[in-house]
Amino acid sequence: MAYTYDPQNIFARILRGEIPNNTVLETEHTLAFHDIGPQAPIHVLVIPKGAYVNFDHFATGASAEEIADFTRAAAEVCRIVGATPGEGGGGYRTISNAGEAGVQEVPHYHLHILGGRVLGRMLQRID
Ligand code: 5GP
Repeated sequence: MAYTYDPQNIFARILRGEIPNNTVLETEHTLAFHDIGPQAPIHVLVIPKGAYVNFDHFATGASAEEIADFTRAAAEVCRIVGATPGEGGGGYRTISNAGEAGVQEVPHYHLHILGGRVLGRMLQRID
């Protein structure tokens, strides 16, 4: 599968320091920052520093080290923002949109971490 990465996308520009961000956590391969248009009291975006378009691109193209770093950073973000269940947090939801059906706006892989309120059902039933 060939993926075309747009180096001018907004998250690439954030990674290059061309646009400011409100950082929650930075690791060797990962950056996490608050979403500019939060849809819940907690809304953090976790992105790999590598040039990956979406989840399947990351899963197939990233190194094991990048994937482990990203996954552990995302869990650490949940702890930092106080959302981790069992550690006094109220829980969270992770979402990754891809492509047209997923209504992905920014073409750099990112994980949304949402929480701080009861988020309701994952999707509205359409049947
Ligand atoms: P998507 O629809 O691609 O899954 O989500 C893109 C997310 O990026 C949206 O929730 C949007 O609010 C967020 N976003 C877009 N531009 C910026 C920006 O410049 N800074 C930050 N922090 N978030 C952004």
